[in-house]
Amino acid sequence: MAYSYEAPVSQTLFDRASLVTPGGVNSPVRAFRAVGGTPRFMVSGTGPYLTDADGREYVDLVCSWGPMILGHAHPEVVAAVQDAVARGTSFGTPGEGEVALAEEIVARVEPVEQVRLVSSGTEATMSAIRLARGFTGRAKVVKFAGCYHGHVDALLAAAGSGVATFGLPDTPGVTGAQAGDTIVLPYNDLEAVRAAFAAQPGEIACVITEASPGNMGVVPPLDGFNAGLKEICAAEGALYISDEVMTGFRTSKAGWYGIDGVRPDLMTFGKVMGGGFPAAAFGGRADVMAHLAPAGPVYQAGTLSGNPVATAAGLAQLRLLDDAAYAKVDAVSAELRSLVGEAFTKEGVAHTVSAASNMFSVFFTDEPVRDYEGAKKQEAFRFTAFFHSMLEQGVYLPPSAFESWFVSTAHDERAMERIAAALPAAARAASEATA
Ligand code: PLP
Repeated sequence: MAYSYEAPVSQTLFDRASLVTPGGVNSPVRAFRAVGGTPRFMVSGTGPYLTDADGREYVDLVCSWGPMILGHAHPEVVAAVQDAVARGTSFGTPGEGEVALAEEIVARVEPVEQVRLVSSGTEATMSAIRLARGFTGRAKVVKFAGCYHGHVDALLAAAGSGVATFGLPDTPGVTGAQAGDTIVLPYNDLEAVRAAFAAQPGEIACVITEASPGNMGVVPPLDGFNAGLKEICAAEGALYISDEVMTGFRTSKAGWYGIDGVRPDLMTFGKVMGGGFPAAAFGGRADVMAHLAPAGPVYQAGTLSGNPVATAAGLAQLRLLDDAAYAKVDAVSAELRSLVGEAFTKEGVAHTVSAASNMFSVFFTDEPVRDYEGAKKQEAFRFTAFFHSMLEQGVYLPPSAFESWFVSTAHDERAMERIAAALPAAARAASEATA
């Protein structure tokens, strides 16, 4: 596909990057491989906008893949970070910021009685699984196809996000031993879960699920699915782990738990709680968390865990996320969903706008999508044309049809008008696209 616009400075940076970094990026979906073209190298962000190295401004609908729920460079978050940085960037000792952030999480998410801070969502899910195995004395883990829990060896089987974007069947480097205890089941299928427990009695340590998946596109749980998982786990002596790295503190004050009220044994968090810095966490039942070192025998650690700058940023962001902030993000999302839906309908493009609270994505199919197989049936080639038309018109979408779009409290009328102005031509491009 030829593009009628250029990004010469980004191209030069990408050429330089490609010499010293595999594929020119530090995380695969940033590379635009699924949509083609030159990844934009961003130099600054403010409110709902990003500016690239060529000086072009975009309305940002990625929000750093979720974290920037208040928009970029929110003055109060920036002030908290500047204050923290000036007092030193890492001590390798406990500090009050970690306690305050942990207290904030515990206060917001009722099932979290104790929490351990880490630096990435991957670390959080990896550690939660180790803890579940240590607590139960069992080896096997159930995950769902299309759910992404970071690049944990045992969880890379049939994963979403970049693994879905690139259609990777498996990842070389994950050994049979690492993946052999992972049972991958279709999402939204409780019968499959019951059958797995029946086939392997007393062997399954935990079921891990995205609280509401956003990594195969947005595919919310069917009514009763999460409650069913919890019930089966409780009956079978396994732990129910809800991965809220994406949904946590984004979909409501208490994340997806605040919406479905199903009480997990363990939960994982990241993204929003770090305010744009590497901060993540896992937590849950106090009797389970008590098995973690140094209180208990399950080892887990981190040089930069609870970093004072990251915790200051996360705490400042969470404290600004009150009911009014969530109402605003929800309203922006609802308005955007209806603009997008109208544009595709007008051009006769088969589509489904699939939402979970304020997270949403577009599937190029009019069949309802309830699992990864359904998500893969969409006409993803239409997304490529749509994406590039939006990019050319100054709207930055996730560069994959299998990712959630994210909005923020900073998406104001001007930003929405720019999106609305770009949509008709982009929807037309999607309708004219060929496989
Ligand atoms: N879990 C979920 C649900 C995610 O969406 C992600 C990242 O997108 C992760 C875990 C991994 O987090 P990180 O990229 O911080 O390692």
